[in-house]
Amino acid sequence: MGRVTKNEQLSERKIKQTKPEATETPQSLSNGSHTTPSGWKIEDSEELYRINGWGDPYFSINAAGHVTVSPKGDRGGSLDLYELVNALKQRNLSLPLLIRFSDILEDRIERLNAAFSKAIARYNYNGAYKGVFPVKCNQQRHLVEALVRFGQPHQFGLEAGSKPELMIALATLKTPGALLICNGYKDHEYIEMAILAQQLGRTAIIVLEQIEEVDLIIEASRKLGIKPIVGVRGKLSSKGIGRWGTSAGDRAKFGLTVPEILTTVDKLRAADLLDSLQLLHYHIGSQISSIAVVKDAIREASQIYVELAKLGASMKYMDVGGGLGVDYDGSKTNFYASKNYNIQNYANDIVAEIKEACTERNLPVPTLISESGRAIASHQSVLVFDVLGTSDAPTSLPDPIQEGEHLIIRNLYETYQSISSENYQEMFHDATQFKEEAISLFNFGYVSLPERAKAERLYWACCEKILGVVRQQEYVPDDLEDLEKIMASIYYVNLSVFQSAPDSWAIDQLFPIMPIHRLDEEPTKRATLADLTCDSDGKIDQFIDLYDVKHVLELHSFDADQPYYLGMFLNGAYQEIMGNLHNLFGDTNAVHITLTPKGYHIDHVVKGDTMTEVLGYVQYDSEDLVESIRQQTEHALQEKRITIQESQLLLQNYERSLSRYTYLSA
Ligand SMILES: *Cc1c(COP(=O)(O)O)cnc(C)c1O
Repeated sequence: MGRVTKNEQLSERKIKQTKPEATETPQSLSNGSHTTPSGWKIEDSEELYRINGWGDPYFSINAAGHVTVSPKGDRGGSLDLYELVNALKQRNLSLPLLIRFSDILEDRIERLNAAFSKAIARYNYNGAYKGVFPVKCNQQRHLVEALVRFGQPHQFGLEAGSKPELMIALATLKTPGALLICNGYKDHEYIEMAILAQQLGRTAIIVLEQIEEVDLIIEASRKLGIKPIVGVRGKLSSKGIGRWGTSAGDRAKFGLTVPEILTTVDKLRAADLLDSLQLLHYHIGSQISSIAVVKDAIREASQIYVELAKLGASMKYMDVGGGLGVDYDGSKTNFYASKNYNIQNYANDIVAEIKEACTERNLPVPTLISESGRAIASHQSVLVFDVLGTSDAPTSLPDPIQEGEHLIIRNLYETYQSISSENYQEMFHDATQFKEEAISLFNFGYVSLPERAKAERLYWACCEKILGVVRQQEYVPDDLEDLEKIMASIYYVNLSVFQSAPDSWAIDQLFPIMPIHRLDEEPTKRATLADLTCDSDGKIDQFIDLYDVKHVLELHSFDADQPYYLGMFLNGAYQEIMGNLHNLFGDTNAVHITLTPKGYHIDHVVKGDTMTEVLGYVQYDSEDLVESIRQQTEHALQEKRITIQESQLLLQNYERSLSRYTYLSA
């Protein structure tokens, strides 16, 4: 719910709070094979990848230059992520691998509840906080079960946004006193189940998202002879910001306008069910990056709440929905990939605002509910994937110019030699023009293929030299801004963006990405990432940065004999279920890890899809497929186009592949 499509453009720019700190990257960064000046420190990597900004308190770098995970946050204990990955690989769990840290999940629930407890104490709020987890954020069984278990001390409940999610919530949530919030489109069956759940001891609250649902509820209640607990989702006029901003406002997809809320009150009163109306809900969008927006919304909703009480509804609950943000880039700003507040500020503002409104009207304060999904589920999983290969722009300078060399090549060579900090912008235009000329001359047959190759290499060499100069400048002219991108290496990674980070593709969401080892070593390359799919959108070329985004990521030089692992962090919300099977890359392997006094325990291993499984999703039967290959080999054997050994090898490979992981084994 409340998600938008690919074309909705980002319009915000990160507000620069302070003067740039010294985040300059080292001057020697380049695609060339410059020797790394020693003296690169772990702290340099910390600053470069901003891990203390987005990773605190769960992720950091140890003295060995590896990413470490402290799943219990500040409460002690840590794991070396690189060593963990190697240990998992020894257990035949191939990359890409999704590692879920159950302790992080628990820590997130603890933090959220602690923040509300603190706010409740601070403002002498005479009511409780009972959060719910929106199941749509991550429906994986192991995760939801763990979450319900961790939430028991806080009577933490679940929110269902659809009928299938209601099935999960009804069967999984048994915590006494916890709430089951029933959102989404509803039919008779949905509503009956929600009402009957009360007889099982559940506090199931049916939240009206559409005006038509009120008649269904009244009818079901009459039929069953049970009074439901009802809530209304209000369409606030306070708007969210960013790409989920359209979840609120008069034209939002869900919720009741104020006139519709009044109609609902009248209908419930006529059916003698006004005392069933106990909850007001709103949801103004996900990843709210500005605390001002949070405040506006709770202020408006508080007034609606007290007015509903005045009209005679037995108001008891205020449900502020989702929206609690995650600081993906660690900048603590109101940029869309960040947020300018912490959980405590969020809880304080909600508690203070509703208390004030109720006190003014002499009303008891409600039980507070938030449906925080992203803030609970994002941090707990890390996707680790490996680099399969790289490709660089061919920047090595060709042999020196010979006698009788083509004029265009001599021009490019001279351009190369005369590049300086005085003329680099002009030289870039010259080099570009000469390269284009070389291609036209080639098209007319005046330049040979080897000459064209030489011209292209000279052009790339010019670009690299100019880039070296550009990086020293404080100000980069507009026409040279793309140079970094043009010259970036491509790192081919063993992953499908469509499967593992769909929001990166669909809505340009940023996730922190960094190597999980070699962090005591200077990353001398600048790269974009290309995934395994044959889709040109299957790439990542936007990365977190202190200001806006950066289009290349600093990485270490790649040696095909040495594994090189990257981690994508904070991707535990929404990505898994929205991932798709583009090019038939299936679910990745996943493991659930808990910290133990001696190290860690692997609670669950969820093997990724095999080829047989993904082929089954598109109705291919693997036995039929094998049979087809067998018949073709028999036919070829009879016609003596294949030897018996070759035919067996083909069949063996084919059959073996069917039971294998869909990703490449490096
Ligand atoms: C998606 C959604 C949420 C979760 O929002 P987050 O920003 O992930 O916390 C909560 N409530 C409703 C109604 C939603 O649609």
